[in-house]
Amino acid sequence: MKSRLNNKFKLTEVVDDELLTKYETGINLKKIEEIYKTFLLEIGEDINRDGLRKTPYRVAKAWGFLLKGYFEKLESIVNGAVFETESSDMIVVKNIEFYSMCEHHLLPFFGVAHIGYIPNKKILGLSKFARIVEMYSRRLQIQERITNQIAKAIEDVLQPKGVAVVLDGYHLCMMMRGVEKQNSHTITSSLRGVFKEDYKTREEFLQIIKMKNEFIG
Ligand code: ZN
Repeated sequence: MKSRLNNKFKLTEVVDDELLTKYETGINLKKIEEIYKTFLLEIGEDINRDGLRKTPYRVAKAWGFLLKGYFEKLESIVNGAVFETESSDMIVVKNIEFYSMCEHHLLPFFGVAHIGYIPNKKILGLSKFARIVEMYSRRLQIQERITNQIAKAIEDVLQPKGVAVVLDGYHLCMMMRGVEKQNSHTITSSLRGVFKEDYKTREEFLQIIKMKNEFIG
């Protein structure tokens, strides 16, 4: 993905050096800024009025952050955090917040991700699951794809006996436009290995993600 974007957006002028260093993005933010100036003019706005003068710059900067997942690598994220284990009990990390941008409307969708796996001699540091979710969310996405990408990443890194990923998300493109269904949320799941084959394992996972958190309700 990195090379594709790099080819597309040749790095010429830089809006914010610090931002570029931080997210190692290959996106030409100056160009994005220009595009948003044109956009504002096109909808009849005065781009020199107080509230809008720096808007194209701010929007470009925001996109740099919202797309940073394209420039992250799974190997660097999990680096050094894979540990050995003898246990083959289920591990579940739930309620990992995610924020993403829908590739059909460029509007946000967001919610929580739940990840479960049964180790096969290897486990991953807990914080890394949130980083993996973040890497795949901070791109132009659809929820189904993020769900599958997370499951595949965990399979690739740990070769577990099974992995289950469930994402529960609200889509602003559904809530703010078109059908305007404010309360509908979308649930996607990817079940692999024992979670797919064994009914009991799957049920245990589903029970765990349904349990209320005692500390935050
Ligand atoms: Zn959409």
